This record gives sequence, structure tokens and C-alpha cells, in this order.
Amino acid sequence: MDSARSWFNKLQTREKSIGKKKDMPPSGKEGTDEAPSSATKQRVAAAKQYIEKHYKEQMKHLQDRKERRYSFERKLADANVSEEEQNNILKQFEKKETEYMRLQRHKMSAEDFDLLTVIGKGAFGEVRICREKTTGNVYAMKKLKKSEMLRRGQVEHVRAERNLLAEVDHHCIVKLYCSFQDNEFLYLIMEYLPGGDMMTLLMRKDTLTEDEARFYVGETVLAIEAIHRHNYIHRDIKPDNLLLDRYGHLRLSDFGLCKPLDYAAFPDLNEKDVTANRTSSAHGDGRQQTTPKRTQQEQLEHWQKNRRTLAYSTVGTPDYIAPEVLLKKGYGMECDWWSLGAIMYEMLVGYPPFYSDEPMTTCRKIVNWRTHLKFPEEARLTLDAKDLISRLLCSVDQRLGTKGAHLV
Ligand code: ADP
Ligand code: MG
Repeated sequence: MDSARSWFNKLQTREKSIGKKKDMPPSGKEGTDEAPSSATKQRVAAAKQYIEKHYKEQMKHLQDRKERRYSFERKLADANVSEEEQNNILKQFEKKETEYMRLQRHKMSAEDFDLLTVIGKGAFGEVRICREKTTGNVYAMKKLKKSEMLRRGQVEHVRAERNLLAEVDHHCIVKLYCSFQDNEFLYLIMEYLPGGDMMTLLMRKDTLTEDEARFYVGETVLAIEAIHRHNYIHRDIKPDNLLLDRYGHLRLSDFGLCKPLDYAAFPDLNEKDVTANRTSSAHGDGRQQTTPKRTQQEQLEHWQKNRRTLAYSTVGTPDYIAPEVLLKKGYGMECDWWSLGAIMYEMLVGYPPFYSDEPMTTCRKIVNWRTHLKFPEEARLTLDAKDLISRLLCSVDQRLGTKGAHLV
């Protein structure tokens, strides 16, 4: 800490002399010991904060390392191994720790990876498979264009969510190994999930059986519960953000880092739309509903034809958004449970519950869900499945999950 203080003092002296030169008044107040300007004070405060944070982190790393060693030693003592073996194992452990610390110090960059196939494209950039040059380990690299994030005013959002992704360590959440940046891009190095996404699976299979859906819905419940426990709302849970690992287990990804829905692109819906729609099937703007009546099979084919275009559009698909989010009247974690209801419906019926040719019409149907939520006969859903979906696609106070995930 002493070396930091002296470095800090040097900075103050330097700042003072720079400040003097720059702020020197023309009247020739030379040589007077002026108070530093507010800009200088701000810079000093920022430097102080940076240094303090740096040392705090350093101390924490040391403490963590000590604790790891202590708990490892205790485990080793309980195991039935000779003293010589114990010494060898401890040596190995220390070697790994040193390597870990070295990696922590190493400043990662895009240069450290060989870039392989592109596996996804988003509003801010692309996702690629990549291989770390030194280890040969394979990861997924998500590249986000900084100017695009700035243009959309998403910088703070992105920062908070990157931190969350790094913090939540759960088997149903995609792991983030590290992140770094260069002048143009922010890079996220995540675990690579080779099973593809739920959107692709649903397009391939049309519908899932109730047993299959039960498995995926169950794992999504665990993922949602994990992020809510960290006081975080995903807001954009949809099949393209549910990825599958090599064993077929599901992981939630894309924490708004990528394509936060451009709500401004959707109409400003309000209670009037809801009440107008409650009494007639007219659009909020007075037009009559023009969507032709289709059979389940026709609607499914239509949905599948449009699905990828919707996923890759800059606006995104509104099909899974909760009504309270669209109404922009304030919302909480409950909105993620609504999305789960919409996904479960799609798994069993083949298309989401409020699908329409026009995203605007979908939004209107969502806020007016009471008249638009219907289960097609042909889909032959069991009473239990319909019941669960209806308890997720309902008003916030009635919605399952609102009072804890164990109720879902
Ligand atoms: P965006 O929604 O902005 O396009 P995502 O993070 O959802 O960004 O990534 C886009 C697509 O890339 C996903 O739908 C998925 O198909 C693929 N993808 C993203 N992350 C991974 C990963 N870790 N492993 C495998 N595929 C991934
Ligand atoms: Mg996505």
C-alpha cells in the first residue's frame, strides 16, 4: 500500500504543476499556491478510487487463495493418504494455483484465439466458435460492436449484465470465462454449447411431446430461479436464448447483452388498447382484425416460414414479452415467468400463443391476452398442460412464480 501511496503522491504533485500551467491567470498570479481545479480534483479522486479498488481486489485474491489451501489441506488430512503422497498432492495444488494466478494476470485479447465457424449473428455482432491458442480449449466468442451499443444507449446495461453473467455460477446458466475489449469491440468468451438452440430444435420437430416439454420447462424454471436469486430479470427469455449442451441439458444465455428488444419500435400500448380489445376484436387504431383464420397446421407453417427472419431482425420478436412490459407501466421478475408460459405453449402447439403476421398485432394480442389466449383443439393438450400454461400466461398477481419458483 505504501508504494501505492507514494505513487499517488507523485501523481498529486504532477497534477498540481500541470494544473498551475494550464490554469495560470493572465494577470500574472504566478507562484501562488492555488487550489487545484475541480477537474484535477475529479481526476485525483478517480485515481484514488482505482488504486484502492485494485488493492482491495488483490487482498481478496490472497485471502481466497489462503482459504482454498486451508480447505484443501483439511480434505487431504481426512483422506487416507500417506504423508509423502500428501506432500506431492499439495505441490501439484500449488502449481495449479500459480498457473491460475498467472492466467488472472495475463491480459487476454482476441489474438489469443483462433477464430472458427460463425454460429450466430446478433444486433451488436456475431458469435463464433474459437480455440484458445495456448491450451487448444474450444469456446464461444461473442463480439459486440461498441459503437452500436453506444448508439443504442446500452452501455450501462451491458456492463451490469456482463458482471452478472460472470457472477452467477449455475449449471443452467451459460458460463462466461472472461471478457476483454479493443478499440472497436467488446468480447465475451463463453463455454461453447454444441447442442444448438431451442428455436432450431422446435423448427426441426414442430412440437415436443409433453414429457420432452416437461424436461425443458423444468430446466428453464431452474435457470430463471437462479437469475432471480441474484435479483436480476432476464426480460428476453425466448427459444433462441435457450441453448443445449452436449448432453441435451438446457442453459439460459444472452443476458440482454446482445439484442435488448427495441421497445421503441413497438407502438405505445396503453389501457385503452386493452379495453378496446376487450369489447371487440378491432385493433387499437380501429382497423378490424384482418389475420385470416388458419388451422393449427397452417399457422405452424406460417410461423416457421417467418421465424428466422424475426429472430435476426433488429427489432426481435415480441411473441414472448409479458403484457406489463409492453404496457411500459413498470414490471418485475414476474415477466420472465410469462415468457416461460409462451415458450411452453410453443413447445406443445408449434407456434407461440399470440403469433400474428404483424409484430404490432402480436403486441396488441398480448396486452389483450384474456380474449386471445386459445388452445387449438388439434394440438390435443392435456388439462394439466393447459392449466400450467394458463397459470403462467395470466395477470401478475395470479401468475405462478410470482411468490417463488417452487410453486411452478
Ligand atoms: P443475439 O440474440 O444478440 O443474436 P445470442 O447470445 O443469443 O445473441 O447468440 C445468438 C445465437 O448464437 C444463439 O441463438 C445461439 O444459436 C448461438 N450461440 C450463442 N452463444 C452460444 C454458445 N455459448 N454456444 C453455442 N452457441 C451459441
Ligand atoms: Mg439471443
